Amino acid sequence: MDDSILVVNCGSSSLKLALFDHDHQKITSALAERLNQSDAFARINGDETPVHLPSGASHSQALAALVNAFKDRALMTGEPMAVGHRVVHGGETFREASLIDDQTVSAIEACAALAPLHNPVNLAGIRAMQALFPNVPQVAVFDTAYHQTLPERAYRYALPERCYSDWGVRRYGFHGTSHYFMAQQAARLLEKTPATTSIISAHLGNGCSITAIQNGLSVDTSMGLTPLEGLVMGTRSGDVDPGLFDYLASRGMSANDVHEMLNKESGLQGLSGQTNDMRTLCELADHGHEPSQLAIDVFCFRLARYIGAMTASLTKLDALVFTGGIGENSARIRQDTARHLRLLGIELDPDLNQHHGRWSDGRISSPDSCYPALVIPTNEELVIAREAARLAVAGAEHSEG
Ligand code: AMP
Repeated sequence: MDDSILVVNCGSSSLKLALFDHDHQKITSALAERLNQSDAFARINGDETPVHLPSGASHSQALAALVNAFKDRALMTGEPMAVGHRVVHGGETFREASLIDDQTVSAIEACAALAPLHNPVNLAGIRAMQALFPNVPQVAVFDTAYHQTLPERAYRYALPERCYSDWGVRRYGFHGTSHYFMAQQAARLLEKTPATTSIISAHLGNGCSITAIQNGLSVDTSMGLTPLEGLVMGTRSGDVDPGLFDYLASRGMSANDVHEMLNKESGLQGLSGQTNDMRTLCELADHGHEPSQLAIDVFCFRLARYIGAMTASLTKLDALVFTGGIGENSARIRQDTARHLRLLGIELDPDLNQHHGRWSDGRISSPDSCYPALVIPTNEELVIAREAARLAVAGAEHSEG
């Protein structure tokens, strides 16, 4: 055994694998894409030679190939001390990360109905790593767990009670690992403790969500039963009128058609008719492409509306925090959003806003702003690595004791 920690993040057709040392510094990371397709592909970041995968490689074949590649390149010298897995849905069962045993696996299986595209592939990753490293502790870190502190008034929909009690229909929230990290990092930047820090955390990537954090705890969030609710996203619509479903059915669309459209053809992609990539949209808008400008406008306006809405859950606000690919990199989106927040007294400093980003966290608000605004790069892998190491050590101490 070496002291490394592996972090596994399995998506529906892709996966990411990261390797950390015992000080939680990232040694390397790797990516596999187009899994279960004839042109499945894998590579270690920064290495030009692809890692060979069989045609149609599964998640487990890709993980085995990447672990072997880490060993061949002497990036790993023995077994890791822990493996951490990102698991999308932990339902109401998991309020925090969990060491994986048979009971944990059954509970993740039970939550699969709530995340049919994600939990089964997360489980495939867990089983693959258990087969590769049968004696190494495996830990599940849930996207939903951080939001289990939401008060009932924030997590219940105004639906008949049986929807909740019989079928678990409620707001769960996602991106919890990233929002948790924002709470920790914002406290550090503000020179406070997380338990006394209240923020609004905007995670703006291809998926987008916003969370109100009161004294370190999630008290409201924009994603709901599924990651479709809330903000405008790359290809997801965010909030729509629930009456839309009936109306589209009357136009001949099936439930599956509507699901595909809302998840894969909407958001920035749907509004612009061009792309889900915010960088490209900004370039197109600069060249006068009006649908791209509209997509940006709707994105920023919806975000600002949600920032306002999140203040209803807080009794104080120490900072508004931007993170994720868009939140970290786009001074323009941050500025366009802040323009809608004048009544809240949030004002950005143009120079600081340009200066801070993925490579440098810090304050971007002007000294006159009623509330500070910060940019903080997210690092979900690091949180998963830390949790995996912490629970592996705690588990070993428990069995020794
Ligand atoms: P993520 O899912 O966190 O990797 O974020 C992906 C999103 O970040 C995509 O929409 C990218 O276009 C966007 N992004 C990355 N860099 C920039 C940038 N410099 N300006 C605007 N958007 C960016």
